[in-house]
Amino acid sequence: MSVIKKKDIRALSKEELRDFFVGRGEQAFRGNQVYEWLWQKSAHDFNSMTNLSKDTRALLEDHFVINHIEVDRMQRSADGTIKNAVKLHDGMIVESVLIPTEDRTTACVSSQVGCSLDCLFCATARLKRMRNLNPDEIYDQVVAIDQQSKLYYNRPLSNIVFMGMGEPLMNYNNVLGAIQKITSPEGLGMASKRITLSTSGIPKLIRKMADDQVKFNLAVSLHSAIEETRTGIMPFNEQFGLEELRKSLEYWYDKTGRKVTFEYCVWKDINDRQEDIDALIRFCRHIPSKVNLITYNTIGDERFTQASKEVLERYTRCLKKAGITVTVRRSRGSDIDAACGQLANKEEQQ
Ligand code: SAH
Repeated sequence: MSVIKKKDIRALSKEELRDFFVGRGEQAFRGNQVYEWLWQKSAHDFNSMTNLSKDTRALLEDHFVINHIEVDRMQRSADGTIKNAVKLHDGMIVESVLIPTEDRTTACVSSQVGCSLDCLFCATARLKRMRNLNPDEIYDQVVAIDQQSKLYYNRPLSNIVFMGMGEPLMNYNNVLGAIQKITSPEGLGMASKRITLSTSGIPKLIRKMADDQVKFNLAVSLHSAIEETRTGIMPFNEQFGLEELRKSLEYWYDKTGRKVTFEYCVWKDINDRQEDIDALIRFCRHIPSKVNLITYNTIGDERFTQASKEVLERYTRCLKKAGITVTVRRSRGSDIDAACGQLANKEEQQ
């Protein structure tokens, strides 16, 4: 029996697939057919590729595997949010979430198993970063949620946010590779403007995205525009600092012309003072941006509690007065630990 390790077929480009067939005396267009099965039709196995002969399917079987994800467990929240525990080919688990609103379905997808960053308020940060997801593993999460949206909400997926587990910019190539497949007519054909990448803010990679002329939206988890406060809750901030972050965002706007969204939780005794608001306003003035005030979802750390309604109203009032667009994001799916910052494979840990 052969002990050659079979290759993940979805790591191959269309050209490489065509070359594979030509190298075996078959016609190149077989490569196109297989590529279509793998991406557009999201086939889980070679046997379902019905326009290929039995021999061709066997040939593929001999050389390759399809490392398809499996939805291991699906939980539905009272508000309609669905959380998937997704099993990867090596048994590791990540989570992805379907968030329905009246007129859209948003997929919140993971980019890494665990996370290497150390945001104190985030449950995923408590998990060690095990590995990066491959483009096909990210793509599959989107496909699974698209199917669930059609099944449960009678409509296709409309938006994607990279706000699941992991820091997408620490898995730059694979995340951009997945987005390329998601937006390609040979994949899901979704519009880039419906995709938002959320980052904790890594200046060098924000500049790289700008240079790469990406067409999706950028959200930055700011949470504080005061150096010591931000470093206190997001310790990696010490490495880069707010000024470098700000400059990279100015660069982003210069190159792409796209506004930035700042994600921002307001916590009691952490960033609930007037000087926190004033610092945020000063920071926003540098970059065409809007602020999304996120409800904090508790992860059982008593240092963090959601600020009162009055404080949130003060934030909203002051930002508006300064001419900055502000939205308040309702928390979804918290009864099944599917809300922002709560993704941590709870079942796994027990
Ligand atoms: N690493 C990326 C994406 C994952 S986190 C990032 O930092 O942006 C997605 C969003 O959830 C971020 O804005 C993050 O700051 C926020 N978040 C993390 N923990 C949270 C919590 N417990 N409650 C509310 N939002 C949280």
